[in-house]
Amino acid sequence: MEQPEIGPGAATRVRTVANWINLSTPLGLLVATAGRCRLRRGPRGLWLAEGYRLGFPIAGAFTVGSVVITPGRFADLAVRLPRLLAHEERHATQWCAWLGLPMLPVYLVAMAWSWLRTGDRAAANAFEVHAGLADGGYRPGSHRQGSRR
Ligand SMILES: [Zn+2]
Repeated sequence: MEQPEIGPGAATRVRTVANWINLSTPLGLLVATAGRCRLRRGPRGLWLAEGYRLGFPIAGAFTVGSVVITPGRFADLAVRLPRLLAHEERHATQWCAWLGLPMLPVYLVAMAWSWLRTGDRAAANAFEVHAGLADGGYRPGSHRQGSRR
């Protein structure tokens, strides 16, 4: 019997639905709303939230569920980091793989581990390494300079 092939479109739909059910996208929308973001639909099932006004976390952009949040504007970020959205989209997939909210404590442990080992939140953080350090504006294997993400 022939199995239907799961292409990137189907995988994206699965992620989009899964991140609703596992409550990570609702959490992301809540965080974006609390941060008084402007929200719009992005590509590939993502939500783009701009103008985030809460001070935590300090990041150029971060992703909760399928919601990518930035204090600034994505158009401005894309000038410096054209692959940033691909990086953040991989985080959306990680939320799906970790069944939503369990990703939060596991990510924090990975971040602490990275910081203890390298003095950097991302350099040895498995989630950031998998999402692509360079795409996210990190300098692989070294401390970041100037970029806060
Ligand atoms: Zn990242």
